[in-house]
Amino acid sequence: MNSPTHQLAISPLEERRGVRVLLARDELTHPELPGNKWRKLKYNLREADRLGHNTLLTFGGAYSNHLAAVAAVGRLTGCRTVGVVRGEELAHRPLNPTLARARADGMELRFIDRATYRRQHEPEVLADLVRETGPAYVLPEGGSNALALPGCAELVAEVRALTDFDVLAVSCGTGGTLAGLLTGLAGQQQALGFAALQSADFLRADIDQLTQQATGRTYANWELRTDYAAGGYARLPPQLRQFIGEFRHRHSILLDPIYTGKMLAGLFDLVEKGHFTRGTTVVAVHTGGLQAWGGFGGEPV
Ligand SMILES: *Cc1c(COP(=O)(O)O)cnc(C)c1O
Repeated sequence: MNSPTHQLAISPLEERRGVRVLLARDELTHPELPGNKWRKLKYNLREADRLGHNTLLTFGGAYSNHLAAVAAVGRLTGCRTVGVVRGEELAHRPLNPTLARARADGMELRFIDRATYRRQHEPEVLADLVRETGPAYVLPEGGSNALALPGCAELVAEVRALTDFDVLAVSCGTGGTLAGLLTGLAGQQQALGFAALQSADFLRADIDQLTQQATGRTYANWELRTDYAAGGYARLPPQLRQFIGEFRHRHSILLDPIYTGKMLAGLFDLVEKGHFTRGTTVVAVHTGGLQAWGGFGGEPV
């Protein structure tokens, strides 16, 4: 599997209140595996290869961009993929577009109840799964483990090669991407995360833990906003859909329904409220996720 086929591009969005907002177009870097999910997989796939595994086993919810990305890896490389989906099978009938596509890409879907899903890190739960599927390289939910970080850190180098900036903004689900950006920033500049799920305060500790595992340290040059989740994970309230539609009209750039829409709505709100000093340049990362639109009644036109 090769690295992104297209170079990272940066699109200027707007300047308001003396703050410049640019968008790093990571959603365009790979035709089949765009955005942060590819970045998080890159070094994990090398490790799976090194260990001689031909099966990838991972976890996700019904709209998971990570399951979609792992399924695409299976289709592109021929390796076997198993996706463990949160929630009983009956609740997922008929399969939504994300899961239907994953299955079409060859992913074996296994549905487990939510209580067991929450215990996915416990050795007995994993042992039970692997007993049924055979040996596998196991990736956690969202693909966020220590090996996910170096791929995301590379994005920082790519952005730095293209532009100066003061703040790097990114949407957070599990926090793995933000953790990787922190290791790439290595204490320089600021990172600003926008949680896409409600009650996400636990993410701060998760992010510290990931950077600790990957680089032996934690960082202080970042902030996580938990007040722009717009109703919670995979909720698309009408105002957010409208924001994404207007954004598309203004910039000819489509944001995704779960992550980047919330981040940019939040970022513009902070700019409007004077959160940043004049002269600040913010680079927001478009982390991809456009495949999810199928599950939200289609993209805004
Ligand atoms: C998964 C995802 C995120 C969140 O990444 P984490 O590493 O889980 O925080 C952000 N944006 C998009 C488009 C995603 O698919």
